[in-house]
Amino acid sequence: MTQVRARAAGDGVLPSVRPLWWQRLCLSSFLLAGLTGLILLVAVDALLRQGRLGTVLAAGRAELAAPLLVALVVATGICERIWPAERRPVLARGHIQDALFLALHAVVVIPLMTLLSVGAAALLSSHAPWIELRATEHWPGWLLVPLTVVAMDGANWLAHYADHRLDPLWRFHALHHSQEELSVLTSFRAHPLMHTTGFLLATVPVVALMPARPIAPVLITIYVCIGTLQHANLRWTFGPAGRVLVSPAYHRLHHAPDTQDVNLGVVLTIWDVLAGLAQFPSRADAVGRTGLDGRPVPVEQDDSAGSALLLLAEQLAEPFQAQS
Ligand SMILES: [Zn+2]
Ligand SMILES: [Zn+2]
Repeated sequence: MTQVRARAAGDGVLPSVRPLWWQRLCLSSFLLAGLTGLILLVAVDALLRQGRLGTVLAAGRAELAAPLLVALVVATGICERIWPAERRPVLARGHIQDALFLALHAVVVIPLMTLLSVGAAALLSSHAPWIELRATEHWPGWLLVPLTVVAMDGANWLAHYADHRLDPLWRFHALHHSQEELSVLTSFRAHPLMHTTGFLLATVPVVALMPARPIAPVLITIYVCIGTLQHANLRWTFGPAGRVLVSPAYHRLHHAPDTQDVNLGVVLTIWDVLAGLAQFPSRADAVGRTGLDGRPVPVEQDDSAGSALLLLAEQLAEPFQAQS
């Protein structure tokens, strides 16, 4: 196979070099996929040996697809029709594409998240048992559980910070930021491999603080609900509570092309405040645009975009292609 294509000598055009096939691929993305596969193998192996694979997957689905979350998405969708930050049709291209991501989330991402938690905990317990703080065994639940949830939120903030600072992670996070028509469904617009670092980091405080006690599933569901609301197409700032909890208006600033460095919080704003990266919105602010300048990730708003399913495949494949 000829890898180098040179124009005929003397035609006045410089030789053009066609990259080798592997030069057109992004190696770091394949490494992250391999790491994710390894964690999943550890989880499946441990659960099969315990005979609990089906039980744990069902429990994960109950936490991450709880009726409370479904009800919240539907109620938020109704609020978006009544008080939209940006008025647009129900079947706007962004809504349809994000609905496909919701389907992917239900079928692929929820089991993936469940197994990532199990695999990360198994790896930490076997390779770094010293992180388990046995002293917390006797702490009362009313102190330990909120402390663990807040620490998990801090770990999620750190993972999100890394998503923006480290190029190999940004390649997967960019898809989430590519949405130009934010709605509650955008919470599910994420590459499945975007979750690996977050679950690895968020498992650390759980294993450290509560090695022998599970967190009540309802708390995880409530945490996910608050995290889902932040993408709503609403101007809500949550008033005084918005100084502590991430509101749709607060998170919208993070999705603006020119202020992505601020407001990285997932549920709590305290981490942004501590890092000097909090920018609080006001009700009087104009509703800014969202998305990525130059559209580095293929988006449905582009007139040349193909069918929604074909575009979904392109969006999922994009991080594996080398950037020119
Ligand atoms: Zn982000
Ligand atoms: Zn977001």
